[in-house]
Amino acid sequence: MAKKVCPICGGKLGMYRLRFKDGAICQKCLIKYKFGNIIGVRPSVVNWASSHTIADVQQMVNDGKDFSQMNPVSGTPSEEYQQKMDVIHSQMDEAGVSDLFGTKKEIKELPNILDLEHGEKIIYLASGMDSDGNTVLIVCTNTRVITIDKGPLYGVKTNVIPLDMVNGVTYSNGLELGKIAITNGALVIGYSNIYNDAAKKLAEAIKNQAYIFKNKSIEKDKPNNDFADQIRSLKSLLDDGIITQEEFDAKKKQILGI
Ligand SMILES: [Zn+2]
Repeated sequence: MAKKVCPICGGKLGMYRLRFKDGAICQKCLIKYKFGNIIGVRPSVVNWASSHTIADVQQMVNDGKDFSQMNPVSGTPSEEYQQKMDVIHSQMDEAGVSDLFGTKKEIKELPNILDLEHGEKIIYLASGMDSDGNTVLIVCTNTRVITIDKGPLYGVKTNVIPLDMVNGVTYSNGLELGKIAITNGALVIGYSNIYNDAAKKLAEAIKNQAYIFKNKSIEKDKPNNDFADQIRSLKSLLDDGIITQEEFDAKKKQILGI
């Protein structure tokens, strides 16, 4: 019964496909138009598809949109996406972000890129220009610096610098537009055409976050040297009758790793 050809791209339908009311699209198209990724499609999207038609997909494609960008009127993006976008907007408000010329489409990608589930948080973001002259969104989070560029031909390109790779950040102001330069190991990555105020805030955010991040990692890696202090305070809990001798012994063993 099923057609062998993808109605969207005309390519082979293949085994991995997304079913709509009246047909299915191929895996390439389902990834291209962001119904899912190489790993699969979320149940909410499968549901959405089962109540929509190939014509709906065709309309979306004709409008130059993908599933993640569709507005709630013409077809609801997943609730998960919407919830993430709400979180992102409140983080942007909190960061006092004003400078977003030319990167609205990159902002829309943030729910797909940021790891909000695991506590990734936007500290600051700004629009700027990379060394190839592309307008990009530069995002500093509590774990990394991400630059995002979305183009009509090549899709979404991201460049990630983990905060522990950041050795330095500088910024300079021009008449209206400034620059920042991030040192990543031996590489210096520069971005220009950032509003002066935003360039300063972005550079400071990256510097501060890299500092916090590195100190956190050191803290985590540092073997616990204050065994004696811990045991002493434990002993006072025992003496005050807050914990039992058994609990004290067990905890002491745990602290000493014996
Ligand atoms: Zn296709």
